[in-house]
Amino acid sequence: MYRRLADDLANLPALLDDTHRTAVGFLAGLADRPVLSAARIPDPTPLPAEGAGLAGALADFTAHWEPTLSGSAGPRYLGFVTGGVTPAGVAGDWITAAVDQNSNSALDGSGQDLERHTLGWLRELFGLSDAHQGAFVSGATMSNTVGLAVAREWLGERAGISVAEDGLAALGLVRVLSGRPHSSIAKGMAMLGMGRKSLTTVATLPGREAVDVAALETALAAAGGPCIVVANAGTVNTVDFDDLRAIAALKDRYDFWLHVDAAFGAFAALTAEHAHLVAGLDAADSVCVDLHKWLNVPYDSAVQFTRRRDLQTDVFRNAAAYLGPLGDEPDFVHLTPENSRRLRALAAWFTLRAYGRAGHADIVERDIAAARALGEAVAAEPALRLLAPVRLNVVCFTLADEPTAERLAALVERASDEALFTPTVLDGVPALRAAFSNWRTGQEDVARIIAALRKAL
Ligand SMILES: *Cc1c(COP(=O)(O)O)cnc(C)c1O
Repeated sequence: MYRRLADDLANLPALLDDTHRTAVGFLAGLADRPVLSAARIPDPTPLPAEGAGLAGALADFTAHWEPTLSGSAGPRYLGFVTGGVTPAGVAGDWITAAVDQNSNSALDGSGQDLERHTLGWLRELFGLSDAHQGAFVSGATMSNTVGLAVAREWLGERAGISVAEDGLAALGLVRVLSGRPHSSIAKGMAMLGMGRKSLTTVATLPGREAVDVAALETALAAAGGPCIVVANAGTVNTVDFDDLRAIAALKDRYDFWLHVDAAFGAFAALTAEHAHLVAGLDAADSVCVDLHKWLNVPYDSAVQFTRRRDLQTDVFRNAAAYLGPLGDEPDFVHLTPENSRRLRALAAWFTLRAYGRAGHADIVERDIAAARALGEAVAAEPALRLLAPVRLNVVCFTLADEPTAERLAALVERASDEALFTPTVLDGVPALRAAFSNWRTGQEDVARIIAALRKAL
């Protein structure tokens, strides 16, 4: 064995203690770490011919790379929709790496069983029935893509062909209708050979990002055949929700696959006050929920659910001599784009076991309260303009005068020690978003965010 490797094996407990101390030190400083680091990125170096051992690698990382990392897991990083990591989420992820299971087949099935148990918990958390079966994937983009892939196979079934066997050319043009889809829908369509241009954007309600259901009905009638509808439960700019029940009711008259992108909006189901926003989610044919956002587990983690697992295995079936028949409970190797896959469910299992529904509802409620408080402060500030009511966990706002992209970028830059906002454009108006999805964020952070914003004006 290579000398450094043998040394590391001999000193494994002490070395992992050092690693643990590094991680704990990072977490301890998180609340006060600048949200974006100004530290210089190290220059590239040649591949090490001889290794430095774990202690040497850790020292190099701590000296040169750790200072460049952002406080994205901290309480005032409001860019994109960014969750942090609960203590149990970190622990679950550490153990995932240590046990290094390949959780994809019944030949060595315990990881799969843990994943299935965790999926059952998540189904309950989001109010989905047993008719929905799921799998862990790396993020909501992959979850949306899997949903669209199953939808594509369903279109094939309607046309009497299998897209998985015969290719998309056998099916011809695909139509996807949606109000304000997340950018990952078009990306998924590009990956699946459906083409970005097959996405038809349907009108939204006046002043809203929720689809106009009457306009959707007109588009369905015009489509003249089976198509895919992507409903949005939580748009990224203003967290608007399509009326899922009304859309599902259209299925009585039109033939379509209903995919719901509820990447972070699904968490509305955790609070009595907001659960109505996702009423009807269970009627979807496929559902996307991100976990590395509002569940606060480490990247990469999301789930996809569908009512048609038979079509899912038609797409993702991995025929190999050493893999058994599909059976009633197909292995995950036949359900997701990956073949080998880490025991991704373990971090979610840990955080749900540690904090339960009540703990996770508390995270969601505190983030909503934080967004509300910031929304009120923005509304009360004459130099700022709130662009939409705060429906859940995002505040979308802009400058009252001359809201140009340049002026907003300068504002973001000036505030970026204390809080991170992301630029966007809402109905042609350059704007900023502040998204709350971190378990640590409290009202004291909101006070700091408001102060930073006022100072940056
Ligand atoms: C974040 C997000 C996605 C994409 O998620 P990734 O985890 O970044 O792949 C898709 N849809 C919505 C609504 C999102 O908020």
